[in-house]
Amino acid sequence: MLTEIVTDEQLIDLYTTPGYLVAVDYPKKEVKLHTIDCMLADPISSVGVKPSKARENKTGEFWVSESRDEANSKAEEIAKNKGYTYTICPICNR
Ligand SMILES: [Zn+2]
Repeated sequence: MLTEIVTDEQLIDLYTTPGYLVAVDYPKKEVKLHTIDCMLADPISSVGVKPSKARENKTGEFWVSESRDEANSKAEEIAKNKGYTYTICPICNR
């Protein structure tokens, strides 16, 4: 099931759950696919995504799914609709 993530806490709570994060960055016009345990998908990490802030500033959106196929489809759909670049994170890609 695809779930929209709107707060950092929501994502932090999912950290130990296997799954995938679709991170959409509006200013960068970029969609990125991460595993949930990627450091770049961790709001606690200084380099990690910050869903609460992105929501507040309208600079991005985030989706989580336990299915890589589902996350991938969502990422491709957003990238296509918005004309954004879609990349699979090189750090956590596996
Ligand atoms: Zn990653």
